[in-house]
Amino acid sequence: MDAVCQAPKAKETPMTLGQQIAWDDTVLPFQLDASDMRGRVARLDGALNGILKQHDYPPQVEALVAEMALLTALIGQTVKLRWKLQLQVQSKGAVRMIATDYYGPEEDGQPARIRAYASYDADRLTDGPAFDQVGEGYFAIMIDQGKGMTPYQGITPLAGGSLAGCAEAYFAQSEQLPTRFSLSFGRSTEEGVDEHWRAGGVMLQHMPKASPFVAQGGGTGEVLQAADLVQGDQEENWNRVNILLDTVEDIELVGPSVAPADLLLRLFSQEEPRVYDAQPVRFGCTCSEDRVRQSLSIYSARDIETMTTDEGRVTADCQFCGAHYDLDPATVGFDAAGAEDGA
Ligand SMILES: [Zn+2]
Repeated sequence: MDAVCQAPKAKETPMTLGQQIAWDDTVLPFQLDASDMRGRVARLDGALNGILKQHDYPPQVEALVAEMALLTALIGQTVKLRWKLQLQVQSKGAVRMIATDYYGPEEDGQPARIRAYASYDADRLTDGPAFDQVGEGYFAIMIDQGKGMTPYQGITPLAGGSLAGCAEAYFAQSEQLPTRFSLSFGRSTEEGVDEHWRAGGVMLQHMPKASPFVAQGGGTGEVLQAADLVQGDQEENWNRVNILLDTVEDIELVGPSVAPADLLLRLFSQEEPRVYDAQPVRFGCTCSEDRVRQSLSIYSARDIETMTTDEGRVTADCQFCGAHYDLDPATVGFDAAGAEDGA
């Protein structure tokens, strides 16, 4: 059920620890009726640390993964997902690839799951800003609705000076949807709490006329920016709401002292904000021995032989969570399928 936000309280009351925890690792969907926009507020804490803990990345790479994870939480929640949405950056820079997966909740009220990994050349990393570690390349969004469904993919050149900028350019170019992100993330040094990552952000998007991710985008021309797409009343709404969002402070985005609904009222009280049920998010990896066996099932016994180690095993490591799989070659590949069917 949705609920129209209440008028702002005259005086703010500090949040209790319980309220703070309730808003961490959630995505709050909202709508601005007066300006025909939709949006999301996301806060990541434990989920983000769960994602990063699977790896041991240098700080610049962690910052990029944190930004991608936050974008993934914001974008993933806008799609009615039966399976997963993936964000991917591929570049010629020191950070060659960043991939994040968002798995929609299996049932209403269940958490969505996010996982991420990056690959990079350690000797090419510099002390410069995180985004400088990314070179020329592409930003892609893939939507996989599961078995029997054709996956959807959109792809645009990297542009905009940050991963959020790349995502904005993606939506303008590939989906023709004016979209804006305002993000804040970093290592939190709150007193009395172990240093850890926190991230928070707001996404604003013109209300899609048709299902945004189902319509085919495409084209390889000039990279559009959101402002190129809006005209007339739309332009006025877009500019007004963006100016309001420009006033947001990092501490309001990342929390934990400002509740997301209070933030929306502070920024957009004139725009008639309406909020929907918050979506909890967690770190989660979907890898399993079954999935490894499935991905190996396309190979012949001869192919499997070439993958077999000197110790006579077929091994695989999950890039997202580091899980190690060690299998008997006689039980994998399509030549072994009969044995599997009987299992
Ligand atoms: Zn895994």
